Amino acid sequence: MYKIAHLYPKELNLYGDKGNILYLTYFLNQIGIKSEVTDIGLKTNITEDFDFIFSGGGPDSLQNLVYKDFLTKKDFLIKHIEMNKPSVFVCGSFQLLGKYYLNSKNEKVPGLGIFNFYTQSPLNQNKRIVGNTYFKFKESFFGNTVVGFENHNGRTYLEDKLTPLGESFSKDSGNNDFDKGEGLLYKKTLGTYLHGPLFVKNPNILEFLLKDLFIRQKNLDLKTFYPEFVAHQNVLNKKF
Ligand code: GLN
Repeated sequence: MYKIAHLYPKELNLYGDKGNILYLTYFLNQIGIKSEVTDIGLKTNITEDFDFIFSGGGPDSLQNLVYKDFLTKKDFLIKHIEMNKPSVFVCGSFQLLGKYYLNSKNEKVPGLGIFNFYTQSPLNQNKRIVGNTYFKFKESFFGNTVVGFENHNGRTYLEDKLTPLGESFSKDSGNNDFDKGEGLLYKKTLGTYLHGPLFVKNPNILEFLLKDLFIRQKNLDLKTFYPEFVAHQNVLNKKF
């Protein structure tokens, strides 16, 4: 049984982030792997390990609501991440993995500090980074372009040698206004600003996350699952 943890499904679920959970279980079922999803909300006590962790994004008000509880789950998350198990954190939850989030009211929301980055809203202006976007993801062997939708005020700045998940097509998109980095990649943990059905739009991301499973299922060739995706990638790749 493949065990999936969905962190804060009620609070952090903007633009249908939960669609990723639905698609993940559907996809696993298609390749013959049974899965179960455990919703982990505020005050849920975690007593077991999981194979996959997912959490979505949310407005500042809900980030304020969850961050204290999120802090209590830090050890659980570090253990999972360091074991090289897949996890995905979208926008608001991604921001909370860093040191802090300075929101649009200039309030400092403490993050878990698992990674050496911080997020802050631009001072004296409310200019959101919003719209459809795409970025280049180097870790995939069958298509490098990832497409999606972002809507955030916070700008994320990675420190040290942290690696972004990908290179955005423009400086007006992704983590901040100064570099083209999008998200964060560490082992099999992804932080990203892309909301909504990331997995169904981007099987190259799913392939990266589930590589170990695919290796186990030796007969699986993702290209036969997603012929239209492969064709579309050829078009998108020309844009870079
Ligand atoms: N509240 C955060 C911001 O505006 C995250 C928003 C989101 O998850 N889309 O930056």
